[in-house]
Amino acid sequence: MELLDRWLSAASRHNAVLLLFVVCCGVTVIGAMVIRDMQSANSEAQRMYKSSVDGLEEIGELQYDAQETRRTTLYALTTTDSNLQVEYADQTREADRRVRNGIAEYARQAKGPEEQALADRLNRDWTAYLNVRDEVLASILEGSTTEAVSLDLAGGVPAFERVRQDLNEVKRLFGEDASREQASLAESSRRSSSRIVGILSFTFLLSAAAIWAIQRSQMLGRMQLAKLQMEFVASVSHELRTPLAVIRSAADNIADGLVKNKESLIRYGTVLQHQSRSMGELVDQILLFASTEDRKRRVVLQPLAVERIMDVVLADTEALIRESGFTLELETEPNLPVVMADLPGITQCLRNLVGNAVKYGGADHKVTLRVSTSPGGDKSPGEVRIAVSDRGIGIDSSEIGRIFEPFYRSPRVHASQIHGTGLGLALARRLAESMGGSLSVHSQVAVGSTFTLHLPLAQGEDLQPAVDEGRPSRMSIT
Ligand code: ADP
Repeated sequence: MELLDRWLSAASRHNAVLLLFVVCCGVTVIGAMVIRDMQSANSEAQRMYKSSVDGLEEIGELQYDAQETRRTTLYALTTTDSNLQVEYADQTREADRRVRNGIAEYARQAKGPEEQALADRLNRDWTAYLNVRDEVLASILEGSTTEAVSLDLAGGVPAFERVRQDLNEVKRLFGEDASREQASLAESSRRSSSRIVGILSFTFLLSAAAIWAIQRSQMLGRMQLAKLQMEFVASVSHELRTPLAVIRSAADNIADGLVKNKESLIRYGTVLQHQSRSMGELVDQILLFASTEDRKRRVVLQPLAVERIMDVVLADTEALIRESGFTLELETEPNLPVVMADLPGITQCLRNLVGNAVKYGGADHKVTLRVSTSPGGDKSPGEVRIAVSDRGIGIDSSEIGRIFEPFYRSPRVHASQIHGTGLGLALARRLAESMGGSLSVHSQVAVGSTFTLHLPLAQGEDLQPAVDEGRPSRMSIT
């Protein structure tokens, strides 16, 4: 259950729509299988019905033509008109031709040895009857009607009776065959029905499980957000209360007249300045994050030389670096191009990254800023990369996917009592994206982290790379 919850909470983070999509795909596949099953059962029933009707029709025609052969011979026997006798003889031969074709067709379609043997027997018996009939016809046409009658009675009647029995046998075998096919069709339709019931039950279970999973994942998501917000409130209260306490005690001391000389007054003033600045920064960060919440914050994109951006960032972070006893090294490629960016946005973004590098930079006390350009290719436009690296505590790979979430703070930094709000990276990423860029991270525990801001190169003929040859490619602040 714990594993499932972890999976569900990951799903809730990535999107419950994905789950719905999976279920829809499952239901579509299952629906297609049901339709295909029903179509195949339907066409099998149609095929069987058609073959039964065709078979019965062919047997009926065979019986009719055999009777016709016999009947026209008898008509020839019973008339004394020689013209009619010749006409009947022709009719019986015509009917006989059709019977022979029918027997040949039956032999061709015979399904097993039994039907094949019956077709051979029918062929033999029909030939035997035709031999007698031909003798009878010859006698009639020669005018020996009495001899013809005796021949027919002696040989024709029993020979035709055998043909009649063969034809009945053909009918019986056909009936048996049709019953067998009907039984197999009934069996296959029963199988189809149980398959459809099974498939529908599975679909129902799948849908129920998906709904349950979506609801649970949403609930877990809400609980997680609520927990993070509680932690955020606790962190912010702590972050505000500490400088407030310092400011209050400094103010009390000054008000009570305990600060007498000028040096002490300057020292107190510096403390008040420092504490009120860090409180102001915290409030600014929260307000800025709130203003980016609806993702509609307007950024003013303008062509900016990367050198100019870096100058502003260095000036902005200088005090932090000096006060924390860190060294900041800047490495830049020569001839840096122009990017489309919002100067306050990019400065805030890099300030957060440098602030984190200082906060989580461990004992090494060194932050490196590397600026490089990627010219891009046919498909990807070029970009400028500003990487902020430290050699501090690093980030566990299991947390990499979460650190950009608002309010998320690693349990390790919580345990180490390193203060923060969990908003810095979320804000930095939002700012990067609002300028058409992105933020990536590469980190290893106990080795260090590198956060890289990717900014697209400015496009357009009037935006020439800003060349500043007098600027060194390496600078440092200590
Ligand atoms: P905060 O620093 O206030 O906790 P952030 O959004 O800036 O919030 O960072 C989120 C989390 O990402 C931090 O709590 C920390 O666990 C991790 N993190 C950020 N930057 C670094 C870094 N340079 N080195 C190690 N961990 C970092």
